[in-house]
Amino acid sequence: MVERALFPTSVVGSLPRPEWLLEAIAAYEGGKIEESQLKEYYDEAVILAVKQQETAGVDEISDGEQRRFSFLAFVAERIPSFKLIPTTELMTREAEEYVKSMNLHVGVISNPVIVGPIKRTAPLVAEEVKFAMKYTQKPVMAPLIGPLTLLINSWNKERSGRYYTTPEDAFGDLTKMLREEILALKEAGASFVQLDEPAIGNFVDFRYTRWLLALNGWKLGDLSELHKIASDLINMTVKGVSGIDVGVHICRGNWRSDEEHYSHGGYEPMIDEILDMKVKRLVLEYATKRAGTYQVFRDHPWHGEVGLGVIDVKDPRVESPKEVVARVEEASKIFGEENIILNPDCGFASGRPWPVVNRRIAYAKLSAQSEAAKLLRKKHA
Ligand SMILES: [Zn+2]
Repeated sequence: MVERALFPTSVVGSLPRPEWLLEAIAAYEGGKIEESQLKEYYDEAVILAVKQQETAGVDEISDGEQRRFSFLAFVAERIPSFKLIPTTELMTREAEEYVKSMNLHVGVISNPVIVGPIKRTAPLVAEEVKFAMKYTQKPVMAPLIGPLTLLINSWNKERSGRYYTTPEDAFGDLTKMLREEILALKEAGASFVQLDEPAIGNFVDFRYTRWLLALNGWKLGDLSELHKIASDLINMTVKGVSGIDVGVHICRGNWRSDEEHYSHGGYEPMIDEILDMKVKRLVLEYATKRAGTYQVFRDHPWHGEVGLGVIDVKDPRVESPKEVVARVEEASKIFGEENIILNPDCGFASGRPWPVVNRRIAYAKLSAQSEAAKLLRKKHA
């Protein structure tokens, strides 16, 4: 077996898009350029993201999600079983109450709503990875939407009920689509598939969850049923998959830089389903104080790899390598140094219109993370 270097560095996926890409997209939407021209801009943006991650010293890179509208909405851009519908069009009276009480800015959010039987009629992510791999020797990871986050946003009683009477009826087809994508990513040569599950992170206080359930008409006797559903869906998705590393990314949302807007709390409320997930790596927020302490994993040990969030993506201040080293050393006592991969808390721009920091800051943070890994390797060699 090949011994890998300690403290490899990675990313969670998205990077802010260059201004010229946003202008090209606007020009395309305004009918001023052709689709083939827009594709060239996308290609250039991905090549730039690949090279900038290499320059920043990241060991395992992504394509920066440059081609996606967002980590979630892109499903509707690729698969006709889903249609992007503004949440303002789906709004119910009950959902409206939550919007008011949480001061949610839902005007920019559109959901990929199920509008037909779910079938993987085209690749979701595999083509992104294949393209990025042409321009780098580094391992390329693949962020892929997780099953609960997709389902809770996409099953809508009114629009999807004809095809799936209840969300539970969609479990089989939805996890099959994601599993087929994981197998395509294995074939493409991706280093790691990361299932993005902010819906699990929102279990810390269920506020955002309640809004989505009210919006989509998903009735649950007790919200705690979602805990078991979360791990069941992950395990259905990865069932029978081998030969490619799969992990789950849990965070508490990522669409604005002001911290007070987000859920606060550690991993305690969802530790049982976390430990039940049959995956290799957990990619966890930990740089933000909102994510709580490591204590929960001391009490309930996780024996796999941990993609440790060491960079706060919402804070424009660039961390010093030394402070990243301190975060990793504290976590090493709980998770074991051989299990830790350094990554930011989340992507730097989970949606095209809402980067949480600018590109200069994002790459400076990735460089600090790489410097920290070098210091750690020296100390622990
Ligand atoms: Zn995230």
